[in-house]
Amino acid sequence: MSKKIVILGGGTGGLIVANKLRKLAKVNDVLLVDKEKNHLFNPSLLWVMTGWRTKNQIQKPLSRLQRKGIKFVNTLVENIDFKNQIIVTPDGDMPYDYLVIALGASTFPERMEGFSESAYNVFDLVGVEEIRDAVEDFDKGRIVVLVSSMPFKCPAAPYEAALLLSAHFTKKKRKNVEIEMVTPETIPMAVAGEEIGNMVVSLLQSRGISFKPQHQTTHIDPTKKKITFSDEKTLSYDLLIGVPPHGPPEFLKDSPIVEEKGWVKVNPRTMETDLENVYALGDVTSIILPDGKPLPKAGVFAHYQADVVAHNILAKMKNKSDKKEFTGKGSCFIELGDGRAGYASGNFYTEPTPKVNLKKPSRWWHWQKVLFEKVWFWKWF
Ligand SMILES: Cc1cc2nc3c(=O)[nH]c(=O)nc-3n(C[C@H](O)[C@H](O)[C@H](O)COP(=O)(O)OP(=O)(O)OC[C@H]3O[C@@H](n4cnc5c(N)ncnc54)[C@H](O)[C@@H]3O)c2cc1C
Repeated sequence: MSKKIVILGGGTGGLIVANKLRKLAKVNDVLLVDKEKNHLFNPSLLWVMTGWRTKNQIQKPLSRLQRKGIKFVNTLVENIDFKNQIIVTPDGDMPYDYLVIALGASTFPERMEGFSESAYNVFDLVGVEEIRDAVEDFDKGRIVVLVSSMPFKCPAAPYEAALLLSAHFTKKKRKNVEIEMVTPETIPMAVAGEEIGNMVVSLLQSRGISFKPQHQTTHIDPTKKKITFSDEKTLSYDLLIGVPPHGPPEFLKDSPIVEEKGWVKVNPRTMETDLENVYALGDVTSIILPDGKPLPKAGVFAHYQADVVAHNILAKMKNKSDKKEFTGKGSCFIELGDGRAGYASGNFYTEPTPKVNLKKPSRWWHWQKVLFEKVWFWKWF
């Protein structure tokens, strides 16, 4: 009997699950739900900031998946009635037999006093276009790249933003622009280990970008252009580029599948939740590593976890017991802005700590990222 598989979220993970289910099983009832009309390829957001991409080049309409037999519903998920297996939306209820929650981490600029009025949001399509325009004529003063709070998606992204901006000003020979990178983290990408963190700090320093770790912002004053931290120290800026506070979807707050902070609890290998036939993957989940740190929120993990979820749903539907497992492997590019990129890769599930190494920055890795972007749209749309 045909089953209804509903995938919530057409971002990195949801897009792949939908494709894999179509391809592997020719299942007819695959429904993908997203509040946005377009899939956004986040790794290229910073290239919009540098002017190397337009916003249209890094998005594709999710409705194109209908050609592959994947039904796309463009609506907001307001709630999930787990007991009756129903998705609640303003356009009506949708029943499911199997559910994949791939809703990502939401951003909440309003949760940081003064953020929306003061900062350009570097994690948002509108924000990166605004930054592109704002830095065009900026020739003197202090730019602060601010991580407002933890956790946030893509541990490398704010550092890439600072490096890309620095390369922009070097190219334009604007010597009177100062860049500061401010974050609550102890070192960049701490989960990947001290060696990687120190390498990123060296990269920042080699560009003259000052690094201020362990700075927890409490509020921002848009009139005085001043950031206040938890120790009551302040920092002034001329241009503020910020990573907004992140959080899980609010409607999941009181549901039976979340941990105390509202992220979805999953089996870290099979991506099963505590409820039968309900899976979750990617940024919406909470996975604690053997060293007690959370698995970073990154597309590469959502990608591999999506493979696992698609396989395990199909196995279950066919009453097969061969479950696929997520191994904890992951990698990411780190753009430097001068035509080169670094490449960090490893396994985050190794004990006692993740084993990650960083390849020497080179043009090769930059071009690998360009190729990855092309293949992404070709393969999944
Ligand atoms: C600037 C930037 C650069 C990045 N670069 C990289 C990189 O180089 N490598 C890497 O691995 N990761 C990178 N990431 C992180 C990566 O994009 C995310 O970790 C990844 O997209 C997570 O995938 P996901 O499927 O869990 O969620 P998402 O891709 O965020 O998808 C969630 C989807 O759910 C939809 N949604 C949310 N709530 C609702 C609702 N209530 N109703 C309906 N739809 C809803 C959203 O519209 C979205 O389409 C970057 C992120 C940013 C911001």
